[in-house]
Amino acid sequence: MQSHYRAVVIGGGVVGASVLYHLAKFGWKDVCLIERNVLTAGSSWHAAGGFHALNADPNIASLQAYTIDLLSEIEKESGQSVGMHMTGGMTLAGTPDRWEWLQSAYRTFQSIGIDDVRLISPKEAGELNPLVSTHGILGGMYAEREGYVDTTGTVHAYAGAAKKYGAEVVEHNRVLELIQTSDGWDVVTKKGTIHAEHVVNAGGLWAKQVGRMAGIELPVSPLNHHYLISDTIPEVAALDKEMPLTVDLEGFTYMRQDQQGMLLGIYEIDHEHWMMDGAPWEYGFELQQEDTDRIEKELTLGFERYPALQKVGVKTWVNGAFTFAPDGNPLVGPVRGKPGYWCACGVMAGFLQGGGVGKSLAEWMIHGEPEADVFGMDVARFGPYAANKEYIKQTTGQFYTRRFVMTYPNEQLPAGRPLKKAPAYSGMTAAGCRWGASWGLEVPLYFAPTADFTETPTLKRSNAHEIVAEECKAVREAAGLLDISGFSRFEVSGAGAAAWLDKIMASKLPAPGRARLAPMLSTEGKLKGDLTVFNWGDGTWWIMGSYYLREWHMRWFTDHMGENVILRDIADATVGFSLSGPNSLKVLEKLTDGPIGDLPFMGCGTFDVGLIRAKVGRLSVSGELGYEIHCSAAEHITLRETLLAAGADLGMREVGFNALLSLRLEKSFGIWGAEFTQGYTAAQTGMDRWIDWSKPDFIGRDAALKERDGNGPEQIVVMLEIDASDADASGYEPVWKDGALVGFVTSGGYGHTVGKSLAMAMIDRAASAEGTELAVHIVGAERPARVIAASPYDAEGKGMRGAG
Ligand SMILES: Cc1cc2nc3c(=O)[nH]c(=O)nc-3n(C[C@H](O)[C@H](O)[C@H](O)COP(=O)(O)OP(=O)(O)OC[C@H]3O[C@@H](n4cnc5c(N)ncnc54)[C@H](O)[C@@H]3O)c2cc1C
Repeated sequence: MQSHYRAVVIGGGVVGASVLYHLAKFGWKDVCLIERNVLTAGSSWHAAGGFHALNADPNIASLQAYTIDLLSEIEKESGQSVGMHMTGGMTLAGTPDRWEWLQSAYRTFQSIGIDDVRLISPKEAGELNPLVSTHGILGGMYAEREGYVDTTGTVHAYAGAAKKYGAEVVEHNRVLELIQTSDGWDVVTKKGTIHAEHVVNAGGLWAKQVGRMAGIELPVSPLNHHYLISDTIPEVAALDKEMPLTVDLEGFTYMRQDQQGMLLGIYEIDHEHWMMDGAPWEYGFELQQEDTDRIEKELTLGFERYPALQKVGVKTWVNGAFTFAPDGNPLVGPVRGKPGYWCACGVMAGFLQGGGVGKSLAEWMIHGEPEADVFGMDVARFGPYAANKEYIKQTTGQFYTRRFVMTYPNEQLPAGRPLKKAPAYSGMTAAGCRWGASWGLEVPLYFAPTADFTETPTLKRSNAHEIVAEECKAVREAAGLLDISGFSRFEVSGAGAAAWLDKIMASKLPAPGRARLAPMLSTEGKLKGDLTVFNWGDGTWWIMGSYYLREWHMRWFTDHMGENVILRDIADATVGFSLSGPNSLKVLEKLTDGPIGDLPFMGCGTFDVGLIRAKVGRLSVSGELGYEIHCSAAEHITLRETLLAAGADLGMREVGFNALLSLRLEKSFGIWGAEFTQGYTAAQTGMDRWIDWSKPDFIGRDAALKERDGNGPEQIVVMLEIDASDADASGYEPVWKDGALVGFVTSGGYGHTVGKSLAMAMIDRAASAEGTELAVHIVGAERPARVIAASPYDAEGKGMRGAG
């Protein structure tokens, strides 16, 4: 062990070993992994070693596919067997909705280019796995690249290959303490102190403690998990080839062959957390006692699905723990305010995801950004609220129990809610508001007309469709009032504010009293934000954007901070309402003494609105004349009551974000996470419209210029109309032209004003001309679609730009 390394990886499970391997392979030789015990001594040794293709986040599904390919490669590179059993795998659905969902999942795989997946009938499922009872099964999805590995062999293969690339592995050496220095970290270990420029928390079951060593509270908790290995089953012994891995979604179980028996793993309905503050330091190769009473229901279902299990005994029980983040995806990447500290933890499926995590993190550490859009596993997707123990307990428990349970796009899950409420929450609830959650905040979805209205979870149009239609109509014809507490707001001031904003935003800065749409780019020219910058004219600026990106943006801002800049996240203290529709000015004029009618489109200023001294911006996401009215949290209730009273005789009604999503789609306004992501460049998404090419210096300028002056992007975002009468696209549905895949939907929905099913899609430029006939798969059915001109509603923008 040296006294100095460029990077020290803490933890020798499958994730730490993969990070080490990728760092060394990508060129950082001066790297070392420190393991408390021996390699695999956390969750990794007792895992079932299975790898499945499915993941709700397509970007993570792609990284899983990368991991699967990598497993054979590390075997070759290290000379250490990973015990690969590429058996293929199938996922079975036993309800009509689940079957439709699987069909949609299959289409998503097509969209992201994973082409070794196919749908199968119950008969084919029975032929592929003769041990499965297909009773009640409606269909399945079969993936060729699924199977299982030997867990210990795999960890040693990653580590062995890493060593061949020059990395070092030190076992029996616990990291005791981390001390931040001016140029990295002092890593205090049992065998002495090492100085490292970078440290990686790959502490697995101990990730919580390794976070606390750096003063970080990670939203992660271990949960227990059972699997059993049966005695030899004669029917299995008689097979001439290995059974495919089989997931029974309705039964909460996964199954694979284990020698001549079966391994049956269970996602427990009555789940159990274990050592929420992290495992004891002395914990090693032990397991928990099995608790068959707690998992009786799933066991019964499992034994019915695989009747041969009923005839043999259980050879081994494994009840061990592994870690989960609130949404079940890993926690990867750098942490704000802790330069050189990196996370690679919360990985609940290390044998499936470890390769992708290691690759992305190593790219991030070496090049400053990972190649893929890894927001779905970025540690900065959570904020400080997620460090709460009860929040972690509820959300990780919910994810665990629902691991194999589908979530409908319109379904609201209860864990960790309600947490943050805007002050007018109670009043809005009394008015019928139905809520969703964004980054811990309750956000209005729509207003139900009756107290007993219940929205049915569905993949198709729901029974809230007409309610949303009414809300859209109110906005288009009169006025809609929307609580916009769920936007992020950053205040920028200080002598260096303008210079800093000019550097980080690719757009021109707004003049005093004006707001401007501002793309923010990475140095590679990929999008980092679709923000709005306000110049309040008094030396104070605001940046507004997506609420759930608050920590993610704050990390970027902090990493690229300028001199003499004061930056504050004011989103908890400042809230507001958006008022939009042709009557919105009339409503405001009743309440405002100042020249609110003179405020130009994209103008902003401070006005009296009733009793409130409010900051008002004339902006429009709906495509109508619109105002965003900001106030302090203490004034939120009064602002709502004031606006409701003023709008009562002008046809104004409260609306939710479901209506806004439909209205913005009719205007072809993209949103973050769909049309705009860090995986796309400005030119691909049309964001380049807002770039100020005359600016001599802004982050991402060189890359953006290169793209502008080159051949242009291969794929761009276009507007589609789809012939669909019962369901709308929601995202990642494949788009076909004459049977060939040409792209995928970024977001979709119903345009209530134009009366059409609409979608925005990222498609090949060759298929992007207006009028091109295409097809889109939505919930199991192929539907004709065509490229239409942007903004199917009010293409000239008369509504939003006009005087009302
Ligand atoms: C019963 C069961 C079945 C599973 N089945 C599967 C499956 O089929 N497929 C799949 O992909 N995943 C499966 N998993 C999950 C899988 O085990 C985990 O995702 C994976 O092991 C996580 O690896 P890790 O490297 O993050 O953590 P760990 O394996 O927990 O490794 C962390 C390591 O860090 C070391 N460490 C911690 N703190 C320090 C310190 N301060 N100093 C030095 N060293 C330290 C520990 O000793 C440990 O070796 C299963 C898990 C269980 C419990």
